[in-house]
Amino acid sequence: MTDSHAWEITCHRLTQAKIAAHRTHDTVQLLAVSKTQPSTRIRELFALGQRAFGENYVQEWAQKTTELSDLDIEWHFIGPLQSNKTRIVAERAHWLHSVDRLKIAERLAAQRPTHLPPLNVCIQVNVSGEANKSGVVPAEVATLAYAIVGLPHLKLRGLMCIPEATDNQERLRAQFAALRNTLEQLNAAGFALDTLSMGMSADLELAVAEGSTLVRVGSAIFGARPAK
Ligand SMILES: *Cc1c(COP(=O)(O)O)cnc(C)c1O
Repeated sequence: MTDSHAWEITCHRLTQAKIAAHRTHDTVQLLAVSKTQPSTRIRELFALGQRAFGENYVQEWAQKTTELSDLDIEWHFIGPLQSNKTRIVAERAHWLHSVDRLKIAERLAAQRPTHLPPLNVCIQVNVSGEANKSGVVPAEVATLAYAIVGLPHLKLRGLMCIPEATDNQERLRAQFAALRNTLEQLNAAGFALDTLSMGMSADLELAVAEGSTLVRVGSAIFGARPAK
């Protein structure tokens, strides 16, 4: 299957998921997760109309931003970010989905070039309660959110989660719902957050049913990734 066919099938899946969830009036953005894929494949998808790409590894991504600097790509950094690697994200990304501590947000705020629009950020939430999982526990999200909105050059847009690796639909649904509930509580407290970054290749329908506004899809578009 060629990339273009797989991309069209994914767009179709997203449309069907919105119809099934009675969300045809809503926007659910498709983020093409291009980690481990060469720039040539990103260029091909861009030619088809895909504009937003997600990457996980700082060095690999930095090289692609250089190779693809002629394209008007919306870059989303979605991987774990070490504090000594924030500068490149501050300088070249449009979005960061994986903020999980204040120190990262503070460094990004200080390093974001002032001629660029604010960096869009999401707080990563550990919705599964797994001990080894990145992300802030739901009870601590509000504290981090209040701190981030006080920082310059960042725009807090919403929340992101990676649920448990399970096929159990009820468990996945409960974890997506937990993210949506956390966002609704923040908005009830006065925030104006518009982004729920949830849903991947295997579970985008479920995520859209639970209110996702952005699905992050890699293998369904590009095929299985080589083991890292
Ligand atoms: C790799 C990755 C994805 C895409 O996963 P697929 O199952 O290939 O669609 C989505 N989100 C994050 C944070 C990822 O690291």
